[in-house]
Amino acid sequence: MLNLAGTKQTHKLKIVQTIAELERSLKALPTGGSKIALVPTMGALHNGHLSLIETAQQYADVVVCSIFVNPTQFTDPKDLEKYPRPLAHDIKMLTDAGCNFVFMPSVKEMYPTYPTPENWHIDLGSAEFVLEGESRKGHYQGVTQIVKKLFDAVKPDIAFFGQKDFQQVLMIKNMVKALELQVQIVTCPIIREEDGLAMSSRNIHLSETDRKHALVLSKALAYVSNNYHKEELNVLLDNAKIMINGTEGIVLDYFTLADGETLLPIKDKSAKHPVALVAAKVGETRLIDNVIIN
Ligand code: AMP
Repeated sequence: MLNLAGTKQTHKLKIVQTIAELERSLKALPTGGSKIALVPTMGALHNGHLSLIETAQQYADVVVCSIFVNPTQFTDPKDLEKYPRPLAHDIKMLTDAGCNFVFMPSVKEMYPTYPTPENWHIDLGSAEFVLEGESRKGHYQGVTQIVKKLFDAVKPDIAFFGQKDFQQVLMIKNMVKALELQVQIVTCPIIREEDGLAMSSRNIHLSETDRKHALVLSKALAYVSNNYHKEELNVLLDNAKIMINGTEGIVLDYFTLADGETLLPIKDKSAKHPVALVAAKVGETRLIDNVIIN
């Protein structure tokens, strides 16, 4: 039994595991016609997720957080298997946050034919195949597939995503456009630890030494962001890569200064929405981070 004493919730968190029950519960809300927000997550909740819930509470009357470790977006079965699933901790966090519903479906509920794949393909534009999409083939088809299923189940007016997964929000916005879905997408800023490390459910896998080494990622991004208007693009990129490659235990996948819409490398500083993005393996753990350049 969880001890929920002393929590600040005004509504009791309702745990829902099936689409039918979710639809029934949402229809039965006393405030019929109220604004519904969805915050999709894979659980192992941290303050980054909480910031999404808190922002959602400002925009909507009812907040649904989904927790589902979506198998179709994993390209490495080992990664899927070892993904953290601290359920009691997550329920406590959502209760304390005053979240209204947590939707925690089974794999069979979301994918009745699993492991036989369903027919899903959507044109997400060429940005699907770069950066994360290059090293994780089919990843964004899996992401958009589950987000569409969650949209269908929750029917939210508004949904919240983190800038931490920059390319993911872009892909979701592209899906919403392509399918002409009536849902507003809000991007929330990256929440970091005090020393700059971007919060991530995967940080739990970092050893103490990895954790120290990982700091170079946010440091390199901060360097590029702080010096963007002073240095040439190639100098910025070279120095950032030198910082990362010079750190023990890190294997850099990419560090790029890209256009925020195409995700292609920018050629000069006339780019309207530059963003610096990085992915690297720190020990056994792959981390991503980014910073929007102003
Ligand atoms: P995940 O559980 O990792 O799939 O993340 C669920 C949502 O939380 C996604 O929209 C992420 O972008 C967002 N998120 C994850 N980490 C952070 C963070 N450090 N700051 C803000 N949002 C985050």
